[in-house]
Amino acid sequence: MDWLSEVKEQDGEIFSLMKNELDRQRSSIELIPSENFTSSAVMQAMGSVLTNKYSEGYPGKRYYGGNEFIDEIEKLAISRAKSLFKVEYVNVQPYSGSPANMEVYLSLCSAGDVVMGQSLTSGGHLTHGWSSSATGKLFKSIQYGVKIDGYINLEEVRELAEKNKPKLIWVGSTAYVRKLPFKEFAEIADSVGAYLAADISHISGLVIAGVHDSPVNYVDIVTTTTHKTLRGPRGAMIMITKKGISKDPELPSKIDKSVFPGMQGGPHDHITAAIAIALKQASTPEFVSYAKQVVANAKALASSLMEQGIKLVTKGTDNHMVLADLSDISPGFGVFAQEALDKAGITLNKNTVPGERSSPFYPSGIRMGTPAVTSRGMKESEMKEIAIYIAQVLSSIKENKLPESKEERLAHIKQFREHLNENDEIKKIRQSVNELTSKFPLYSNMEL
Ligand SMILES: *Cc1c(COP(=O)(O)O)cnc(C)c1O
Repeated sequence: MDWLSEVKEQDGEIFSLMKNELDRQRSSIELIPSENFTSSAVMQAMGSVLTNKYSEGYPGKRYYGGNEFIDEIEKLAISRAKSLFKVEYVNVQPYSGSPANMEVYLSLCSAGDVVMGQSLTSGGHLTHGWSSSATGKLFKSIQYGVKIDGYINLEEVRELAEKNKPKLIWVGSTAYVRKLPFKEFAEIADSVGAYLAADISHISGLVIAGVHDSPVNYVDIVTTTTHKTLRGPRGAMIMITKKGISKDPELPSKIDKSVFPGMQGGPHDHITAAIAIALKQASTPEFVSYAKQVVANAKALASSLMEQGIKLVTKGTDNHMVLADLSDISPGFGVFAQEALDKAGITLNKNTVPGERSSPFYPSGIRMGTPAVTSRGMKESEMKEIAIYIAQVLSSIKENKLPESKEERLAHIKQFREHLNENDEIKKIRQSVNELTSKFPLYSNMEL
């Protein structure tokens, strides 16, 4: 059967939008560090009859009949995750990363308890207690940040922990380019009697490949999404370490109850199967080579960008991600950079930088990552080429400055967009991006 032939026959509108999205993915350079290209095997499992089943509960303890095969699928996913991450317990049912984190809070904390996490503007995730997230509203949230040099401020973490005595501390980020100091966090959490949870959503693929330290010996709980460097379906897992179980033998049953019936209903069994497949793929030597290449590519991208005169937060990277600080061009320049690069076929996102001189809505930096381009087979020489395109695009728009007043801002951005359509330099780079991406075929099995 042709890919999407049934969609095409029954819903032409959705079909053509899906086709456009596939074309967009094929022809652009995907640098959003939380994205990746999952395998056809994972997609086949996601598009399967497993989506038809209800299986509230856990293997052997379901509220519905007919779960003998679903039980085996979930048990396989769990045992593969346990052996890959070297943990004692795994729950594979969280719908995604944000509910997984909420499930951790709800199993350890009551409303109003003190919790601590890295602030959004310093690279943390919304669910680590940011004010606009439910996690920042339900709990008394203390936020730590990074120093002006971009590294986590461990002195601040220690002082805040001692002063506020949090019940739960999060370590883990969405925009942090250096190794996470799990050992130092463990010393702080132990000294104040807090649970320590590592959210390795971004780096879990690097962790199992051994190219980033594992938090497993230091923390009680580990959460991860399955669709970032792990390259699986959109989903998440909650894991408990030996340390976590010896601290509280009830942790596994607390987490299980907090996932179901605490937060969720029926698990998405098609996703569970896809997670199991992704974990099997991630246990191969090929995946280890992939993860090593992701980091090698990020380092190559970082050094080429710096050669082009672009300032990087912490002057480099230890992982899959690079954060450029464009405040010297002008504060808030990340807004223009994201739009212009998008026009050139280079997809990334604007991001705040340490000591942000603008605001989270109009930040001064851009965030880039290499998991997706590495999945396409790109290597160091392509990273160099991409860095040159990025520098050319930024240089072609460098005169733009964000006006002070809100009305002027919106008008200026509107005018900037119109000018982008006439920018010949960007048109030329878009052409080069097309040539580069056509050399790295994506989903060539998907005929439309
Ligand atoms: C992506 C991410 C999440 C949230 O995952 P969703 O699937 O988008 O809900 C949570 N924490 C971190 C660190 C992440 O990077």
